[in-house]
Amino acid sequence: MGDAGGNDDGLDAAVNWLTNYVLPKIRALTRRDVPDNLWKKCPGCEQMLFHRELAASLEVCRHCGHHFRIGGEARLKMLFDGGAFDKLELPKVSADPLRFRDRKRYSERLREGQAALGPGSDALVLAEGRIGGTAAVVAAFDFAFMGGSMGMAVGEGLVAAARRAVEHEAALIVVPASGGARMQEGILSLMQMPRTVIAADMVKEAGLPYIVLLTDPTTGGVSASFAMLGDITLAEPGAIIGFAGARVIEETIREKLPERFQRAEYLLEHGIVDQVVPRGELHATLGCILALLREPYRAQATLPALPSPAAQQPE
Ligand SMILES: [Zn+2]
Repeated sequence: MGDAGGNDDGLDAAVNWLTNYVLPKIRALTRRDVPDNLWKKCPGCEQMLFHRELAASLEVCRHCGHHFRIGGEARLKMLFDGGAFDKLELPKVSADPLRFRDRKRYSERLREGQAALGPGSDALVLAEGRIGGTAAVVAAFDFAFMGGSMGMAVGEGLVAAARRAVEHEAALIVVPASGGARMQEGILSLMQMPRTVIAADMVKEAGLPYIVLLTDPTTGGVSASFAMLGDITLAEPGAIIGFAGARVIEETIREKLPERFQRAEYLLEHGIVDQVVPRGELHATLGCILALLREPYRAQATLPALPSPAAQQPE
């Protein structure tokens, strides 16, 4: 037993050495090699997803089909033929006209957003190129920039996109991902609602397609203006689309709302959305719609030859 006791002491010492010295070193090493951002937890099914695998599937969970929110640039790459497009600059607007301050200064929030997305950026990116061979201007929201909120820069951007589409006889495709109006710009942000309606009308009056692709989330002043005016309205699966939040409505009308209320599929069933399209099929579907609207005879001949979404996925 004495030997065994001696062995136990030796074992304890070894275990102590392992836990106090070796383990922290291994943890430090592995932490350096495997940063947390390599994995994302899926909010739909709670599976851990490897970031490279997610990028390859256009940020869609392969287990449950949950569509993660994506940035404006990624959206442009996915929608245009071969991921090729020319970016258009956002028109300059006066920054922080009300010198607004909530918990932070508005100017500081703008600086933070622009530090992440580049100088002069806002919650909207504009580009032109071809989709299924048809000329198109795309205006895509970036939810990461102040919740995709619509202020003067976004309003001006949508007007500029509409003008460009009319000048170049291109279709206009708008992809909202927005919490609504930008409260830091007060009434000036609300004024963008009628302005974006006029922008949509410009394209329609020119006889060009105006297509809206609703993504998660499309709410508030955005859903109450240009986002509901598409000639054709598409939506990504599971996207929340509505004006006020479900909880606010429940508290106001004091009634339980139906299951999946304000989701893309619910809106499809109730006639607000024309088609719910999984992200991997968006490019081909848009190409098909544009070809049918712009050149129905060419479309009939070339539809099967439209590039498959797999052919233009990022590496
Ligand atoms: Zn999932």
